[in-house]
Amino acid sequence: MALAIDAEECVICSACEPICPNQAISRNEKTFVIDAKLCTECEGFFNTPQCVSVCPVDCIHPAETMLPIPTVKRAKLYQQVVKLFNKPDKKTY
Ligand code: SF4
Ligand code: SF4
Repeated sequence: MALAIDAEECVICSACEPICPNQAISRNEKTFVIDAKLCTECEGFFNTPQCVSVCPVDCIHPAETMLPIPTVKRAKLYQQVVKLFNKPDKKTY
């Protein structure tokens, strides 16, 4: 398993990059990113993920919890919600 950085919340403080024992964290043009192929959640080095412990805004999370919803799926979900709220009330008084 690997961790990932929420680019919307990252304040680009650079605290996480140097403490990663696997050199899995790097800077891109917008934010910092974690290479999922290199991140071991610090296993073998530390008991807790070091990047998480130093991040001042808690924007590093398990990668699988941060998968973006594909646009098509998002549109379908939106349609379902609209349908649900526009459903006519079956009760008649
Ligand atoms: S959890 Fe550990 S190995 Fe993974 S990116 Fe953070 S510091 Fe690096
Ligand atoms: S420690 Fe957190 S806020 Fe700072 S660069 Fe890393 S992910 Fe971004």
